[in-house]
Amino acid sequence: MSDKNRKKEKSAPRAGVDRREFLATATGLASAAWVTSSGVAGARSVAWSPAAAAAPLALDGGPPVRATMLEAKLSGPQYYDDEERHEVLDVINNRSPFRWWGIDAQGKPPDKCINFEREYAEHQHTKYCIGVTSGTAALMTAMAALEVGPGDEVILPAWTWYACYDAIISAGALPVFAEVDESMDIDPTDIERHITPQTKAIMAVHILGMPADMDPVLEIARQHKLKVLEDCAQSAGTSYKGRPVGSMGECGIFSFQINKTISAGDGGAFVTSDPYRFERATRFHDCGFLRDGHAKVLGMPSRIHNFSSCHYRMNEFTGGVMRAQLRKLDRIVADFRDKSRRVTEGIKDLPGIQFRKQNDPAGALGNWVYINTKDQAQRDRFLQAMNAENVAASPMEGSAILPVATHIEKKETLQPGWPTFTVGRGKRIQYGASACPKTIDIWNRYVGIPMDPKFTDQDVADIITAVRKVYPVVMKA
Ligand SMILES: *Cc1c(COP(=O)(O)O)cnc(C)c1O
Repeated sequence: MSDKNRKKEKSAPRAGVDRREFLATATGLASAAWVTSSGVAGARSVAWSPAAAAAPLALDGGPPVRATMLEAKLSGPQYYDDEERHEVLDVINNRSPFRWWGIDAQGKPPDKCINFEREYAEHQHTKYCIGVTSGTAALMTAMAALEVGPGDEVILPAWTWYACYDAIISAGALPVFAEVDESMDIDPTDIERHITPQTKAIMAVHILGMPADMDPVLEIARQHKLKVLEDCAQSAGTSYKGRPVGSMGECGIFSFQINKTISAGDGGAFVTSDPYRFERATRFHDCGFLRDGHAKVLGMPSRIHNFSSCHYRMNEFTGGVMRAQLRKLDRIVADFRDKSRRVTEGIKDLPGIQFRKQNDPAGALGNWVYINTKDQAQRDRFLQAMNAENVAASPMEGSAILPVATHIEKKETLQPGWPTFTVGRGKRIQYGASACPKTIDIWNRYVGIPMDPKFTDQDVADIITAVRKVYPVVMKA
C-alpha cells in the first residue's frame, strides 16, 4: 500500500450510517445462513459476531476483530508426525539415502522413492511417476519428455511461476503468453490466436488451487495437434470434473517445495501415462540411464537411445517424507475445503459480492478465498482494512505477472546468443504490459484471504466477521 493510497483511505468519506443500516437487515439473514450451512442448528460453537461487524473499522480507530494477526501457516509440515519421523529414521537406520543402492548389504534395499512413485501415480490416475528434486526440475524433465527444443513455441499463462518460463527458455524454445481469466488460470478463449505452425505445447497451469478449465484446453490441443503439459505445482490434491490434475494432458508436474500442498522442503514429480514420454523423462532426469528399477516399471523393451541429459534424482529422505505426506494429502485437501466452504457460506449473502470463477468447485483445493473489487484502489483499501482487523489478506500471490518482469521484458537469457530470441518469431516477439492487459487488470482487482487447513472455528468466525465488517464499507467508497 502506497502512502498515497493510505492518505486517500484516511480522507475517504465515512459510510458508517449506511453500513449500520445495511447490517441491521443483513445480520438476520446471515445468522440463518450459518445455521443452515452447518446442517444442524447450534452445531458450531463459534459463530461470527454481528456486534463486532457493526463496530467502526479498525482502520478508522475502531476495535479490531482480532487482538492478534490471523495468518495461514504452510500446510504440509503442519501434518508432520510419527509417520514422517519413521520414514526418515528408516533411511538413516538402513544407511540408504541414495535411491538405487546403499552400503549395507544386510539392510533393506532402498525403496522409498520407487514406492512413492508407484503410490503417487496411483493417486493421480497415471501409469508412471518419477520423483525429482523440484518442480522446476520436473518442468525441465517435461520439456525433454515432450521433445521441446529450439524452433518450438510453448503457450503458457501470463500469471504463473518463473519456473514455467525458465523451463521453456532452458530448452531453447520460445515462451508465448496467453491471458488468464477470472479463475486466474489460462483463458481458453485466448489460446488459439497465439498458435503458429511452430507451437508444440500448451502449458496449462492449475493456479492457486484452482484446476484450469481443461475441457476447452484439451479440445484446442486436439484440433491443433499440440501437447498439453499440466503444471500442478500449486494444486496437488485437486481434480477437474473427477479427473485428478496431471492425468489429463500428455504429462504433468508437481512441486513439493514448502509452499505447496504437501512438502518435504523441496522435491517434485513428473507424471505421464505414455511409456515413450516416461522413458524419455527417466533418461533425462538420471544421466541418460534407464535403471533396472525404472525399466521394470516401464514393463516393455527400451525404445530410445541415451541423449544429453541431467541429474534431477529424488533422494530417499525426500521419498520417505513424501510417502508419509501423500497418505495425508486427501485429509489436508478436505481440511482446506472445509475452511474455505465455511468462510464462503458465511459471506456469500453480502450484496454484490463476487468470488473468483470456479472451473470446478468440487475439485478445487480451497486454499484461498478470493473476492473481486472494482479496481486497484478499492482492492488496496480492502486489503488495508482487513489487515487492520488483524485478518491477513493479500493481492494474488505465489506467482508473478511474467511478461512485465524486467528480465523477461528485456529478454535476458543465459547468454546473448540464446536460440530463443535470435531467430524468427523470437527475435520479433514483445513481452511487457501490452502482452497481458487482461491479466494485469485481474491482478489489480482481487483480494485473497489465505486458508489454513487447521484454522479453528474461532479463526473461521473471525474471518467472516472481518469481511462482513469491511466489505460493505469498502465497496461503497
Ligand atoms: C512452485 C512452482 C513451480 C516450481 O516448483 P519448485 O519446486 O519451486 O521448483 C513451478 N510451477 C508453479 C506454478 C509453481 O507454483
